[in-house]
Amino acid sequence: MRPLSYARPHDAATAVAMVGRNPGAAFLAGGTTEVDLLRIGVHRHDLLVDINELPYREVEELPGGGLRLGALSRMSDVARDQRVMARYPAVSQALLLGASEQLRNMASIGGNLCQRVRCGYFRDGISACNKRDPGTGCAALEGINRGHAVLGTSPHCIATHPSDLAVALVAFDAVVHVIGPGGSRSIAINDFYMLPGDAPEREHPLGRGELIVAVDLPGDVIAARSTYVKIRDRQSYEFALVSVAAALEVSEGVVRDVRLALGGVGTKPWRATIAEEQLMDGPATQEAFERAAAAELSAAEVREHNAFKVPLAQRAIVRVLAGAA
Ligand code: SF4
Repeated sequence: MRPLSYARPHDAATAVAMVGRNPGAAFLAGGTTEVDLLRIGVHRHDLLVDINELPYREVEELPGGGLRLGALSRMSDVARDQRVMARYPAVSQALLLGASEQLRNMASIGGNLCQRVRCGYFRDGISACNKRDPGTGCAALEGINRGHAVLGTSPHCIATHPSDLAVALVAFDAVVHVIGPGGSRSIAINDFYMLPGDAPEREHPLGRGELIVAVDLPGDVIAARSTYVKIRDRQSYEFALVSVAAALEVSEGVVRDVRLALGGVGTKPWRATIAEEQLMDGPATQEAFERAAAAELSAAEVREHNAFKVPLAQRAIVRVLAGAA
């Protein structure tokens, strides 16, 4: 048994300082990832700094029609917030399709964005895994890789990013706000997630002691017509094989605006910029959707068990766009 200390500071400065000066410390919000990983020995923190008393639980209005999601607001509360449902239905749907009701009641928005990968080799604590133990290799490359990524992979890691919420946030250019020992800063959501490259242990650009306090959803009219579709092996409490967050604006048969992001296929929540560029100002037809989907997946690198994800993702994109059109 390993000793574990616990603290519950009442202000953010103290929480940030406690984690900032202690390499073995971690923030604790809902605990739905952290406690699991501590139990199975993948995380080895010796101090948990409980941040649940900090004032980051609200969903607030932003100028221009956007919304600010407090980092400690719970998934279930945000999913059922009337403003989120009306202005960002894809965000609400992504939240409701993630985890179970019990987990959604506990899990925070900030924690959701920082959740670790579901790769079985990462979580078993003994297999070669560059993400868990840098430099040891990647057992998934030649192992069971049915659930692994086909976009943004590297020879060092092919784990899929597991968050549904993050896919919807990427589609709508959300901004992550953090505070830390060096002050506060904002990070575009697409920059918040890093490709594995040769350092898969580094998943986001947060420094030691930096804490997510809010996520901004910019005012965006097209987001009110968005949708999130998740394809998985069973209908509840399962991670995506493929997911699509999308919004489409069509006028006189021409695509005037489009947002498209993918989950389940990338090592990070995948903004489908190739498909978006190909679709813009073109015809809103089945053929055009099929061409754009094929272009987005053209860089896919498949492994022994996950090649099915390429046609599955293409069909999912076409289905969602055709429905939106
Ligand atoms: Fe580890 Fe990534 Fe390889 Fe999984 S895919 S074993 S997380 S390095």
